[in-house]
Amino acid sequence: MLKNHNCGDLRSEHASQEVTLAGWVHRRRDHGGLVFIDLRDRSGLVQVVFNPETSPDSHSVARELRNEYVLAVTGQVSRRPEGTENPRMATGEVEILVKEAELLNPSKTPPFYINEDVEVDEALRLKYRYLDLRRPKMQDNLTLRYKITKFIRDFLDEKDFIEIETPVLIKSTPEGARDYLVPSRLYPGRFYALPQSPQQLKQLLMVAGYERYFQIARCFRDEDLRADRQPEFTQLDLEMSFVNEEEDILVLMEEMFVEMAAKLTPEKKVKRPFPRLPFQEVMLKYGSDKPDLRYGLEISEISDLVKESEFGVFSRAVNEGGRVRAFTAPGCSGYSRRQLDELGEMAKAYGASGVITIALQATENGGDNSLDSLSTEMVRSAAARYLSLDLVKSIAQRAGAGLGDLIIIVAGAQSMVERTLGGLRQEMAERLGLADPDVFAFAFVVDFPLLEWREEESRWESMHHMFTTPKDEHVSLLDSDPGKVQGKHYDLVCNGYELGGGSIRIHSRELQQKIFSLLGYSPEDSYERFGHMLDAFEYGAPPHGGIAFGVDRVAMILAGAPNIREVIPFPKTQSATDLMTDSPSLVSEEQLADLHVKIVHQQE
Ligand code: ASP
Repeated sequence: MLKNHNCGDLRSEHASQEVTLAGWVHRRRDHGGLVFIDLRDRSGLVQVVFNPETSPDSHSVARELRNEYVLAVTGQVSRRPEGTENPRMATGEVEILVKEAELLNPSKTPPFYINEDVEVDEALRLKYRYLDLRRPKMQDNLTLRYKITKFIRDFLDEKDFIEIETPVLIKSTPEGARDYLVPSRLYPGRFYALPQSPQQLKQLLMVAGYERYFQIARCFRDEDLRADRQPEFTQLDLEMSFVNEEEDILVLMEEMFVEMAAKLTPEKKVKRPFPRLPFQEVMLKYGSDKPDLRYGLEISEISDLVKESEFGVFSRAVNEGGRVRAFTAPGCSGYSRRQLDELGEMAKAYGASGVITIALQATENGGDNSLDSLSTEMVRSAAARYLSLDLVKSIAQRAGAGLGDLIIIVAGAQSMVERTLGGLRQEMAERLGLADPDVFAFAFVVDFPLLEWREEESRWESMHHMFTTPKDEHVSLLDSDPGKVQGKHYDLVCNGYELGGGSIRIHSRELQQKIFSLLGYSPEDSYERFGHMLDAFEYGAPPHGGIAFGVDRVAMILAGAPNIREVIPFPKTQSATDLMTDSPSLVSEEQLADLHVKIVHQQE
């Protein structure tokens, strides 16, 4: 090796030892006589001193050095002279007095600073990802990511799971997204699909008797990207046999995340036990199936209070089968016209026609601040003249508002009201600084409907996926009222993100066939696509269930990163391109001919 120590490991107890180090020039200071270099390797930085008097040869090497040159030095670890220690550096008590230095490789000036934590255009970072990944923050992120997967493997191994790989070239699996397809060379016109998840294979492993499986699996979904989505992503996928109830899986997963956080981010507070929140309740209270539970700002139904109101926006919404809901922004009664307009614009972006606010002005200092003292003059709202004081009071009571607060109300179709208030709730929490960055607020969302009605296509679709089993007591509703059936499906959410989801599965051919036909597959169609599953269920399939987590999202949250690209070494852009290797790219005519593929329309 060209080195026998790591830069970042050196401490005062190494003083007077001779060490050989190798790394990159992080920073260079030329003081005329002495040259100081901060030498960096993966472990961190150490100060290296070149003295023209004691080592003229190495000093002349040092004079040539620039940022990011690769350098090897041999020298003596020495305590820094008193008063020159640097308490902000882990190695700040020592420095290396160089005897020999060898330049291993020079470097062009990098397109951005590697030694400073400054904002750099993301496109540039992605094009020169190998330089971006040199930055200490990125090294921390990838190291944490490694520790997460190592923790998962160790934890599950302890619990008697085994890791089994499943293929990447498979038959299309329906997880609700578009598949990435791979044309077959040997079978013209046929395609493999890249797995959206190992769902069917892990279930088949249960039929095969493996009982406890997991895999850190790469999954592929060709869908529109968002901040926390990538075309390929990594999933912790697991499945267990002889489980029948959601709790069997949830208890184990809670233990895994609590231990993971305690070990890898001990500075964070984790609330236990993780609450189990019914889907309907979270949609009402938080307007989202992945609520951020670090703060309250709970949404309340006020449809019943306003259905007969003179204010047409409210009464019309209720009469047309919609909803009117509200939440309270504490202390925001003084919001300016402009601030209120901003909320209105945001609401429109979610599809609402606007937002109605009621500000309850506080009494002057020392006055009675209970709702009883509310008078008409203290109510500020564009709808004020249509709302009686009594109605305002009952809305305020329902929404938990007091004097000095702002009530934010949205009316209209239920899903739009949920989405809009969910978004505004998050916005207000941000403005009010309510989300404690030191808390992980985990929760399981349960009691999901099994099926969702797709209005445009007039058909049912699985809320999770088609292998999820209905709750035992709801099976009989499948024929009479499918929309009322709940599935044994659960999601784990944390701080406003969905970390993962899973379900107890169907393990009987008959029930699986029934679900397929509810989803609109004919028996022939379902056999053509899922015959292997239907057949397998007839050969002694055990009751089983599982879950899968987005490893990228878990790493993002544990690292406190703003998006998943920060914890993925070589991510794609938001428009699904790789700027470093320039893909997707054109391929040769021969390659296309081999695959029996003809390009009909080519983008310039
Ligand atoms: N296959 C599911 C998914 O990827 C997870 C599961 O049900 O285990 O979302």
